[in-house]
Amino acid sequence: MSRSPFRFRRRPSRAQSHNFLISTSIFFLVFISLVLLCPVGTKADPTPRPEYGTVIGIDLGTTYSCVGVYKGGRVEIIANDQGNRITPSWVSFNGDERLIGDSAKNALHSNPRNTVFDAKRLIGRKLSEPDVQLDLKHWPFSVTEKDNKPIITVKYKGVQQQFLPEEISAMVLAKLKETAESFLGHKVTHAVVTVPAYFNDAQRQATKDAGTIAGLTVLRVLNEPTAAALAYGLDKKGAESKIIVYDLGGGTFDVSLLTIEGGVFEVMATSGDTHLGGEDFDNRVIEYLVKKYNKETGVDVNQNQRAMGKLKKAVEHAKRALSTQQSTKIEIESFENGNDFSDTLTRAKFEQLNADLFRKTMKPVEQVLKDANIKKDEIDEIVLVGGSTRIPKIQEMLRDYFGKEPSRGIHPDEAVAYGAAIQGAILSGVEEPSEITLIDVNSLTVGIETTGGVFAPIIKRNTIIPTRKSQIFSTAADNQQSVVIQVYQGERGQTKHNNLLGKFELSGIPSAPKGVPQIEVTFVIDANGIMTIQASDKETGKSESITIKDGNHRLSKEEIERMVDEADRFSAEDEAHRKRVEQLNSLQNYVYGLKAQMNDREDLSASDKSILEKVLRDASVWAEDHGKDASLEVLEEKLAEIQTKVEPIGKNLFEDDVSAAGTDDSWRHTEL
Ligand code: AMP
Repeated sequence: MSRSPFRFRRRPSRAQSHNFLISTSIFFLVFISLVLLCPVGTKADPTPRPEYGTVIGIDLGTTYSCVGVYKGGRVEIIANDQGNRITPSWVSFNGDERLIGDSAKNALHSNPRNTVFDAKRLIGRKLSEPDVQLDLKHWPFSVTEKDNKPIITVKYKGVQQQFLPEEISAMVLAKLKETAESFLGHKVTHAVVTVPAYFNDAQRQATKDAGTIAGLTVLRVLNEPTAAALAYGLDKKGAESKIIVYDLGGGTFDVSLLTIEGGVFEVMATSGDTHLGGEDFDNRVIEYLVKKYNKETGVDVNQNQRAMGKLKKAVEHAKRALSTQQSTKIEIESFENGNDFSDTLTRAKFEQLNADLFRKTMKPVEQVLKDANIKKDEIDEIVLVGGSTRIPKIQEMLRDYFGKEPSRGIHPDEAVAYGAAIQGAILSGVEEPSEITLIDVNSLTVGIETTGGVFAPIIKRNTIIPTRKSQIFSTAADNQQSVVIQVYQGERGQTKHNNLLGKFELSGIPSAPKGVPQIEVTFVIDANGIMTIQASDKETGKSESITIKDGNHRLSKEEIERMVDEADRFSAEDEAHRKRVEQLNSLQNYVYGLKAQMNDREDLSASDKSILEKVLRDASVWAEDHGKDASLEVLEEKLAEIQTKVEPIGKNLFEDDVSAAGTDDSWRHTEL
């Protein structure tokens, strides 16, 4: 390999020609990588694709979903059969009947065990994930595990039936597909579906699968904030603008910071809270009213599911009313035991009950500004997404913080579907907003493990996707015939602190000294954020690959945040470890290189050869016994000591190389 510490001055050896070839191919690979890494984004394809038909845009939300289509030069958000432009992401199994959307949500209090919602919190995930375990406690329906996946059991058509979260989401998608078909008057086969920016591969894949189950080819899994920015971006021209997308829905809160310049969108940072939204605001009011009712009547309705269901519905209704009026009356007939419920809720009381939750939403806002290194007064636009951003107090808080009005024009609960519909039009070639380019980024660095548990990053965090990057690695031992490619995600220097995504083995590597085989490892992240890793032996052409799909190993948003936080805190420690391992490698490579090539030298006297052999033997033994535990300083001293011993012999022979050893900045940790 070109990292051999030697270059011979007098005559080229076989090793030297080999080095030249490798250097040339590395140069070529770097060139290819650079070409592939250019931020081309996903430029609008101007070719009409009649085979797609009309491509619809779907915002598949945790609590509500929405479908839009680009028609006649504008986006139409399509109302469902109930006349509602947003549809609850709920499915209820009532006897022989399957209800989807509004009717399913209405069935909650009469049939709680067979009414399913929040499938988005389960899709592409494992039951054992801590977030999922917490959610389980709040669901009235049964979720167990089957084949390593969460599975929902309901009574349908008189028997217990099981559904995967993908299947429940597919039922919601099918409903939206039908909604679009009845509006358009023809069949729909292709869609753009949005997901949160932090969704991992497994969640994206599972969302695509849900589309397939619903009879839709999902052409693109688009990030929600990108879609929202796209909805507003059409009006944007000229200079760079910085946008905060503040998305407060029913159960989730996401903040993203995007930049738009010359029609190019880029997601700079994301943050949020997977368990904060309108339902929490409702719950605060419910708790308050239940206590009040208890005080007034002595009845605790907490265990009365039917009464609680009715109260939940009435409270949500009241909350919506309070977005436009100062007070509202909550009235429920036959609330419990034949008694009615009646109370008045003021906006002031609602705000007081939720003051801390509202304030809590500003933390992620500060976080994205910090992550993107942008000051709040540099923000040009605040885009509101999600029904809960209609709450006046939320808008006021944002106005006060940024000193400007949040954007208006598109309904906050429709903005994501609106953007998805535009993206659908771009992909189908019917729309030519032409200058629009979408750029998304990967949320965490991905790479592989090399010797000593050192993480070799291949695609850095926040790299624009789609992307593809290759790097050459080699063997760590002589005649090593297989390498294990262990794929990790994270920001730490040692793999033990990062997240193992998957691993595979490449075998059948022809016998060769360590460092000679060239194993090219290629990471590809597609426009949907789905990752494929391939390793191939350059000599035999043999290759193996893996597509990361297993939700078991993927990270939740909180885990991502925690890892990024930890990475900041521990980066100094990681850097020290990396330097130590690199230094040990430099030392071992120096010794190994000398040893391997010493025999080639006809001009080396027998006595010099014997001295050199002893120095190198001692050095190998030392590295073996103490290398792992030695500090960076000790390793540096040891290398200097060996060099001092070798120098008198090697001065004439290895002049350039001896002085260069261990100081090569371009050295990378590449042994597998
Ligand atoms: P999304 O999932 O984005 O559609 O947001 C749904 C959440 O927005 C639910 O919790 C709704 O109760 C809430 N929501 C919808 N409209 C309003 C409104 N006018 N005022 C307050 N919250 C609302």
